Amino acid sequence: MNIILFGPPGAGKGTQGDYLVKDLNFYKISTGDLLRNEINKKTKLGIQIKTTIDRGSLVANTIIKDLVENTISYHSVTKNLIFDGYPRNLNQVNDLDYLLKKYVKKISCVLNLKVSEEIITKRILGRELCEKCGRIFNQFFNPSTEKNHPCGSQYLQKRSDDKKQIIITRYSTYTKETLPVLDYYKNVNLLHEIDGDDKISNIYEEIRRIIDPLGT
Ligand code: AMP
Repeated sequence: MNIILFGPPGAGKGTQGDYLVKDLNFYKISTGDLLRNEINKKTKLGIQIKTTIDRGSLVANTIIKDLVENTISYHSVTKNLIFDGYPRNLNQVNDLDYLLKKYVKKISCVLNLKVSEEIITKRILGRELCEKCGRIFNQFFNPSTEKNHPCGSQYLQKRSDDKKQIIITRYSTYTKETLPVLDYYKNVNLLHEIDGDDKISNIYEEIRRIIDPLGT
């Protein structure tokens, strides 16, 4: 089973994806994470990517396709995949179709986390990432505590694009370029809508209610 987690920035795709990885042994392909890895390498490409991300725009499709193919080719045999934040425009839908054919895979369902703009802003402004274990927390909705996060709060970091002004641009990029992707998956009957404003645990239950009957 291979899943696409869809939704605006701050919808909770990363958080829900991490639960699925932990419980059902998926491999998560987050294009945002792959891009941040490139930035951390401080290469010329990484610097170029950071400029684009900090503007709130989409990174070039060719760069994304290469990063995704490298990851799929490595993990395709053993694991079911979750795509988080990909595809983000119609060209990337075509690229993904090509890659899935090449590596003999199919998308089983697309889960759209529908979230209001008010919640998105809070989710993004409260987001904190642990640089040690990679887990995502939120100051308002899911704070890091001694009990749920042994690394401790000293490793928590904010993303450089999680700022109020950039959020507005990222949301507008989403509505203009990414939303049309939903129609594509609706037309091929893969789309499931989920109330992404709900509590993290309720969203996860709903996701499991949809995917568990699909088997592996
Ligand atoms: P995310 O971690 O998914 O919120 O992505 C952070 C930023 O990385 C986005 O605002 C884009 O600038 C860039 N990005 C992530 N995924 C993609 C993608 N599939 N295509 C183009 N740009 C992307």
